[in-house]
Amino acid sequence: MNHYYVDLHIHIGRTWTGKPVKITGAKSLTFTNIIEHARHEKGLNMVGIIDSHSPEVIQEVESLLASGQVVEHPAGGLIFGELTVIPGSELEIYDENCHGPIHVLCFMPNLAAMKEFSNWLSAHLKNIQLSSQRLYVTGLKLQQKVKELGGIFIPAHVFTPFKSLYGKGVKSSLTEVFDPELIDGIELGLSSDTEMADKIAEIHRYTFVTNSDAHSLAKIAREYQVVAMEEPTFSELEKALKTEDGRRIMANYGLDPKLGKYHKTVCSECLYPAHEADQVCEQCGSKKIIKGVADRIMELKTTEIGPEGRPPYIHQVPLEFIPGLGPRLLEKLVNHFGSEMAILHEVPFAALKEIVPEKIATLILLAREGKIHLAAGGGGKYGKIAEI
Ligand SMILES: [Zn+2]
Ligand SMILES: [Zn+2]
Repeated sequence: MNHYYVDLHIHIGRTWTGKPVKITGAKSLTFTNIIEHARHEKGLNMVGIIDSHSPEVIQEVESLLASGQVVEHPAGGLIFGELTVIPGSELEIYDENCHGPIHVLCFMPNLAAMKEFSNWLSAHLKNIQLSSQRLYVTGLKLQQKVKELGGIFIPAHVFTPFKSLYGKGVKSSLTEVFDPELIDGIELGLSSDTEMADKIAEIHRYTFVTNSDAHSLAKIAREYQVVAMEEPTFSELEKALKTEDGRRIMANYGLDPKLGKYHKTVCSECLYPAHEADQVCEQCGSKKIIKGVADRIMELKTTEIGPEGRPPYIHQVPLEFIPGLGPRLLEKLVNHFGSEMAILHEVPFAALKEIVPEKIATLILLAREGKIHLAAGGGGKYGKIAEI
C-alpha cells in the first residue's frame, strides 16, 4: 500500500477567463494554478478541487483533457502527472428541517458525472457560476442525487458557528437533516480536532477528514491527511473513507484547534472573551457574542470516549503562522527543500538553520514537536503563536 498526501477542499477563485467563482477567493486561485501549486510547492498527491461544477471550470478541464495534459483514470479521478484531482462542489443546504445553513462537499468520480451534476444543480440554485450557493432542495434530495451519480458526500467544517451541520444547522442530531447511511465522512474544520469531535457519539461511525478550505494558494494544505491507497484514484479514496481492504486514513494533520478562527467564545465587535451564557459583552456591551467551537461541542456532547482505531490527529502550525517567516523567506525555503511538507515535517534543524535565522528554525522545530505556545482564536480571528 502507498501513502498519499490528500487535501480535499480547495476553492477556485477565478475561471481561466477571469470570471469570479469564489468571490472572496484569490484571483490567482485558478484550476491550473491550483494544480501547479499543490503539486510543486505543497507536495500533495491528491486534491479535491471544489467549485468544479462551474461551467467555465468544466470547459477549462475539457481543454486540459483535449490537450492531453490531464487524463481521466478509469477508476475515477483526473490525473495530472503526479497529482490526482477529484472534482468537487460545496453547496449550502437550508431546507425546512434545518435551523441554519449547512455546507456540504460533493465529489464526483469523473468529468461526465460532474457535468451531469452541474446541469442538475443549475435548475436548483440561483447562479451556477459561483461557489457555495444555496441549493433549493432538501439535504436528503442532494444526498440521493450525489449517490445516483456515484459521488461522495461529506458535511463540511461541521462545527463552525455559521453555515455548518452542528454550528446552527441541527438541534442535536444529523438525522434531522440527512440520511446517515448516505454520509461518507465528516470534515472537522479548522477549530476542532478528532478528540473534540468524538464527544459526539453519532459521528463515531464516520471517517474524519481534515482539509484546508483554501481561499488562496498559500493556504492549500494547511490541513490534510495521509491516506493509504493502492493508487491515487477516486474509487481508492472511497475505500479509504470506508476503511476497506487495508485502505484508510493513516493520520489527520490539522491546525491546532486554538489557531482556528472560531475556537473560543468571544464578542465579535471587540474580541473580548465571553462565556457561553453571556448575552452582552462585558467590555463593550455589544450583543454580538459568537459561540466558539469548543463551547458548542460541550453543548452537543453525548460521550466522553471516542471509538477505537481512530488515526492520530497531528497538530501542525502552517509555516505562514510562524512570526518573521514572510513570503520571500518561505520561497527561499521551498526552493531549497522542495516542498512545505518537507520543511514542516522532515528537514533537520541544522539544515533549516543554514537557510533561515536560528529563531525561525527553532520555531519550526518547536511547532513540529507540538511545544509551541498558542493564543486561541475566536470571533473570526485566527489564533496565533504567543510571544516567546
Ligand atoms: Zn464552507
Ligand atoms: Zn469551502
